Amino acid sequence: MRIVVLVKQVPDTADVRKLDLETGWLDRDAGEPIVDEINERALEVALRYKDDHKDTEVVVLSMGPENAIKSIRKALAMGADSGVHVVDDSLAGADALLTSLTIARALERTKFDLVIAGNESTDGNGGIIPAMLAERLGVPLLGFLANVEITETNISGERQGNDGTVNVHAALPAIMTVTERFDYARFPNFKGIMTAKRKPVETVTRADLRLDAAETSGFDRTEVLSTAERPERAAGTKIEDDGTAAAALVEFLATNRLI
Ligand SMILES: Cc1cc2nc3c(=O)[nH]c(=O)nc-3n(C[C@H](O)[C@H](O)[C@H](O)COP(=O)(O)OP(=O)(O)OC[C@H]3O[C@@H](n4cnc5c(N)ncnc54)[C@H](O)[C@@H]3O)c2cc1C
Repeated sequence: MRIVVLVKQVPDTADVRKLDLETGWLDRDAGEPIVDEINERALEVALRYKDDHKDTEVVVLSMGPENAIKSIRKALAMGADSGVHVVDDSLAGADALLTSLTIARALERTKFDLVIAGNESTDGNGGIIPAMLAERLGVPLLGFLANVEITETNISGERQGNDGTVNVHAALPAIMTVTERFDYARFPNFKGIMTAKRKPVETVTRADLRLDAAETSGFDRTEVLSTAERPERAAGTKIEDDGTAAAALVEFLATNRLI
């Protein structure tokens, strides 16, 4: 079984996250780049399957700038077998259409039985790439799972919503996404960190994926039209209790459409 885990490098959510007001792009230098935590949980699913099925191959695939190699190496230190790094200056600022086409091509090249992704990244927050990949690759998507059972031929799991739980299953090859209901990932140990340096990472360019400009010129044009700094938080409304506080509170809530 070959499991490909999609890992996105994102600015640390604990750091300040800033938009470049000139370009509308995320200022990636404003915070420490890390593996998106939801992708570590996705990797943990693959590694647990590998713990029980030694012939499993776990590949991490990331599309990102040069320094995304750091996140790939961390995933290798955690236990993945190899990495694929899609890196090309012309892909900087790619929107969801271009990102999904590029990753789909890379997945066709890498081959997979199962792709495991996060449900949503913490920077782009689109929550759309896995669905686009499933459409492009013509495979089923089991998205937003709370748990999963993986066999040689199938995956099944539960998707929990406000109205109840849906049991879903699909034949492999398929794509699944994990939510925060999955466990935290293991930490890399010393042996993992040492062996990660020797594990293979393939660097893949746009040309390797046959993504020429003519093919993508029609749609890689999502533009940020305007960007503005979030306004400073204004002081709140203070209601002193002089005997009319209850009425004033109700009035405040009603005016602000909170009740
Ligand atoms: C107008 C516009 C401008 C943008 N400009 C920029 C920009 O300048 N720079 C920039 O970095 N982003 C930019 N983005 C965001 C960029 O398009 C998204 O980051 C990208 O399309 C992935 O979408 P997402 O992060 O919302 O992924 P989601 O759909 O939220 O991700 C879900 C899962 O898909 C997988 N995944 C997603 N992206 C990757 C990846 N690159 N590699 C591996 N796995 C992945 C991960 O498993 C992730 O957990 C822009 C978006 C828009 C709409």
